[in-house]
Amino acid sequence: MFFASDNAGAAHPKVMQRVMDANDGYAMPYGADPIMDEVRGKIREIFEAPEAAVYLVSTGTAANVLALACLCKPWETIFCSEVAHIQEDECNAPEFYSGAKLSLVSGGDKMTADALRARIEMENTRGVHGPQRGPVSITQVTERGSLYSLEELNALTEVAKSYDLPVHLDGARFANALVALGCSAAEMTWKAGVDAVSFGGTKNGCLGVEAVVLFDPEKAWEFELRRKRGAHLFSKHRYLSAQMAGYLEGGTWLQTARAANENCAHLAKGLQQKGAEFLHPPQANMIFARFPRHLHQRLHQAGAVYYMWGCTLEGDDPDEMLAARFVCDWSITTDQINQFLSHF
Ligand SMILES: *Cc1c(COP(=O)(O)O)cnc(C)c1O
Repeated sequence: MFFASDNAGAAHPKVMQRVMDANDGYAMPYGADPIMDEVRGKIREIFEAPEAAVYLVSTGTAANVLALACLCKPWETIFCSEVAHIQEDECNAPEFYSGAKLSLVSGGDKMTADALRARIEMENTRGVHGPQRGPVSITQVTERGSLYSLEELNALTEVAKSYDLPVHLDGARFANALVALGCSAAEMTWKAGVDAVSFGGTKNGCLGVEAVVLFDPEKAWEFELRRKRGAHLFSKHRYLSAQMAGYLEGGTWLQTARAANENCAHLAKGLQQKGAEFLHPPQANMIFARFPRHLHQRLHQAGAVYYMWGCTLEGDDPDEMLAARFVCDWSITTDQINQFLSHF
């Protein structure tokens, strides 16, 4: 009954197998290994982008900040939602790596085209004295488990393009979004006006690997230099490559995402039947739900693990409605969810 996060689960056996297979003999370091060639080809195929530059790093934060740094100058702003991972959970690494500052679009986890336009209009009004407009960063799946439809994505990138600003997609949960929308990777990215993607692996079955996909191959060298200077050029790179190879092989990444989403939908339905209220409509593998304290206490006593959201389990009023976050990873089973629901 573990719902704390999708980076707390095990790695997928196919990923482990490829790592084991790679653990033999010698391979050139720093991304010159043959498995990286395979991965690059596969990712270009998945994205229908034969020219794209593809790199691997070991954390999602590194993927985000290195990609963003390649899209902006130190005097620019990075537009993102007020609860974006790059704002709340990266310890100012985006600012550190890019030199730019974040410019927050208000209105919760999902930016609207109007709110984005309004925020962009607020910047760049003071000539040399003020910050200049820079890239827009969109998170898909959002930090609150919501999705941007293709229409909504296109509306945002249209605003960005109307100001000639590049677009970054934080896809820590890229696969979960893709299978939920039922579209292609190209449709969710470059066909929708996205210039750079952080393509998550860790939360969906890898040990620790994320890809950065830059649709403009001219950015490749800058990315390589920034990655090395930023201390994220992995030495025994074949072990990153092997993880990503196992992840992509035979559509493992889509199967794991589907399993996580389906189990999350099952959990959401169960919670709803028990009378829980949702803070955000659950659309992928993350749920934010509210129900009385005494139920949370009972679930915790029974061994359920999840984060309370902006409140504490301890308190006097047993009927107080408390919010919590539930994340389903690829390895959670329907039995575990049923067991969890049986404690209500
Ligand atoms: C988990 C996550 C990341 C990456 O986090 P790391 O801990 O650096 O791997 C990036 N963006 C979002 C939205 C995430 O949920």
